[in-house]
Amino acid sequence: MKQISRRDFGTTLAKGVGGAALLATTPMACAMGNAQNKKKLGIALVGLGSYSTYQLAPALLDTEHCYLAGIVTGTSEKEQIWADNYAIPKANIYNYQNFDTIAKNNTIDIVYVVLPNSMHADFCIRAARAGKHVICEKPMAITVPECDAIINACKKANVKLGMGYRLHSEPYTQEVKRFVKEKTFGAVNYITADAAYRSSSNPDQWRLNKKLSGGGALMNMGVYAIQSIIYGTGENPNSVSAQEFSTRPEYFKETDETITAQFEFPSGAVGNIMTSHNARANRLYASCDHGWFELDPASTYIPLAGRTSNGKLEFPQESQQKLQMDDFAEHILYGKPNRAPGEMGRRDMVIVEAIYESIAQGGKKIDFDFKPEYGFGG
Ligand code: NAD
Repeated sequence: MKQISRRDFGTTLAKGVGGAALLATTPMACAMGNAQNKKKLGIALVGLGSYSTYQLAPALLDTEHCYLAGIVTGTSEKEQIWADNYAIPKANIYNYQNFDTIAKNNTIDIVYVVLPNSMHADFCIRAARAGKHVICEKPMAITVPECDAIINACKKANVKLGMGYRLHSEPYTQEVKRFVKEKTFGAVNYITADAAYRSSSNPDQWRLNKKLSGGGALMNMGVYAIQSIIYGTGENPNSVSAQEFSTRPEYFKETDETITAQFEFPSGAVGNIMTSHNARANRLYASCDHGWFELDPASTYIPLAGRTSNGKLEFPQESQQKLQMDDFAEHILYGKPNRAPGEMGRRDMVIVEAIYESIAQGGKKIDFDFKPEYGFGG
């Protein structure tokens, strides 16, 4: 395969489809070479938008246990560009219509669904029926019954299901989970998490279209804050009360702009989240019996940063997506724990739905009845 520079690649893509969404961020490597190695699982990315282009595909050049083997796209202009730059054989390129024939392709082991939220369930279920292991991006779907349908389809097909919750493979988050497990600072009494950015560029984007997104800030960023307060306490919550704030209804016509929610946990800890498409915030803070810990930022791609009442946290920086996809491949290959199983994505959707219900009922407290096993993650 012809090796091209990062600059050449960007130029090629920009000329080919005229879209920044096609620009990749790392130099190319020969993915075909990887296919020779039997221990590497082949991944097909479904949806070649920003996250696949800038994060997942570049990370798949560095993964040790999996590689980019195929693509599924609804935009035919992208096919040749991705084929050329990632050495993807024609037989491993699919569109949304012929996707189900991927069942016959033995070089694809895992299908990674990276589409708008309302399309996750359909493609995850089709992938499972095709006998492929599945990684589903966050949020898992747009309703709890859709999450159930994905989980059931994967069980029926006897394939593994993982969420794209990359932070579970990331060292700062793993350190927080260790603090909680070992009670380094004693019991957590109060936890707060913010996950928010300001959206202003494109009122026509799918994230602001309820049919495609299922909801606004809560569906998009809120799941990070929900995740944070759960792995930051090691518990699933007992209850939630929530409020919604709208200051730019002309921009956020169909979807939530800012939401706050308060949680109670079985241990007696209390928590709070804020998620928004109208403010910038990215933080996890926990106050404990004998100290505190904090990540800020807590859920950006790279680099996270953190400190505690004992001092600064410092870990080497590595692509979170690389770590996440290798972890999932090792789960399939060697039975390592699934760090973010489908049930975890479903649990978060139960919480999302409860938050919307609480808001609809004027902030009423909604109780949960969770099993404990997905509180902490693998
Ligand atoms: P994007 O808008 O950049 O890409 C979406 C892709 O879906 C595009 O390739 C587009 O062509 C395709 N598509 C198919 N049907 C479409 C339709 N009807 N409308 C719009 N696009 C359509 O989005 P993205 O940022 O790549 O996000 C994709 C998924 O990945 C979302 O579920 C998002 O929540 C998730 N995501 C996760 C992370 C993470 O850190 N885990 C980060 C970004 C995005």
